[in-house]
Amino acid sequence: MNIQALLEQKDNKYDEYLLLQDHLYNKIPDNQRFDLIRQAVECGKKAAENIKTTSLWEYCRQEGITIDFFQEEMKVENFRFVLAEFQLPNHIRINQSLLQIAKPLLLTQDFLKNQQVSEILLAHELYHYLENQQQLFTVQKQLSYRTGPFKRRARLYSLSEIAAMNFAREYFGLSFSPVILNIFLIYPIAPEHAEYLVRQLLVID
Ligand SMILES: [Zn+2]
Repeated sequence: MNIQALLEQKDNKYDEYLLLQDHLYNKIPDNQRFDLIRQAVECGKKAAENIKTTSLWEYCRQEGITIDFFQEEMKVENFRFVLAEFQLPNHIRINQSLLQIAKPLLLTQDFLKNQQVSEILLAHELYHYLENQQQLFTVQKQLSYRTGPFKRRARLYSLSEIAAMNFAREYFGLSFSPVILNIFLIYPIAPEHAEYLVRQLLVID
């Protein structure tokens, strides 16, 4: 796994990668992509600046958010790994099994600088709580597009992911995109899939 190349990848490449994953990506006009990413990044950063607490766990407790560390059997066949998730209205789930399995690998990574990965995952999910609670840009923004004769409007969920990653990044002052952690967390279980993600992240131009 080429970690150095991942760390040297330009920040906006991770945001572009997330937008590319949107199932409506092809409906987004070319000339809007850059602006949508910029607005999502700003939205995430601003939400982080508004959090005046030294402990996100404590912040969640005060907000009445329940946090559940769940265990599950990890199999390489399961290509869809849930690292963590937010469930409306106020429930966050974090995959304890993935964290445990990835721990030895994460401990050898200097770029983390003792940053707790579980807390970065928590920050990401906390953003999803906040965007709903405060009806932020990433929830309100709707894309208008056509399918055949029909006009439709829909949310772009990738904008929420971009904002959530930038929220975590801003809150902790990280020098890397938390997107990288997804790769580290699944690598011990599904190395080939992790390598595939790395290749995808590195070919964006
Ligand atoms: Zn998310």
